[in-house]
Amino acid sequence: MIRNIWAVGRNYSEHAAELGNTVPQQPMIFLKAGSSALFGHQFELPTWSERVDHELELAFKFDEQLQLSHWALALDLTERVQQTRLKSQGLPWTLAKSFTGSCPISDFAPVGKTNLASGRIELLVNGKSRQLGDLSQMIFPIEKLRSYVLAHFPVVEGDLLLTGTPAGVGPLSKGDHLEAFIAGRSWHWQVL
Ligand code: ZN
Repeated sequence: MIRNIWAVGRNYSEHAAELGNTVPQQPMIFLKAGSSALFGHQFELPTWSERVDHELELAFKFDEQLQLSHWALALDLTERVQQTRLKSQGLPWTLAKSFTGSCPISDFAPVGKTNLASGRIELLVNGKSRQLGDLSQMIFPIEKLRSYVLAHFPVVEGDLLLTGTPAGVGPLSKGDHLEAFIAGRSWHWQVL
């Protein structure tokens, strides 16, 4: 069981702009419950949800030395109606970001010599490109996010770090088929 998922908001400038947010001066970190991580190729939308958006993100796992030893493709699923309401009221995002099953995630691969500082990050929904960006467009690069999170939060071995989403977020529907690409790897999900 994963204990914590440390996620960063607004880490690609075009995505910050599409949601009407200004570009942050320091990483904006929020939590998703570790138990919201969902492995495999299928997920369901919550029965109470009105609009669940996909946010494809490069994810890492912290090893025993708290290095980012492994990486994966993850979806930071977001209930946008609730998030918009909570934001406007100045309230925490827990309901919008940390609901049951809100973090579908692929298998992990060792980082090794993989170049994750640049390269295509793309999400197709039902064969159409929805999100497209480049890892080099991150406002705060991976090592900066890692050091910021370690300096402020009680990170433990096995925790995940989600690095933000490129522009193009949009709603999901039952039956959608998702294909994700990051740094030459791909993963697919089916919305049940
Ligand atoms: Zn996100």
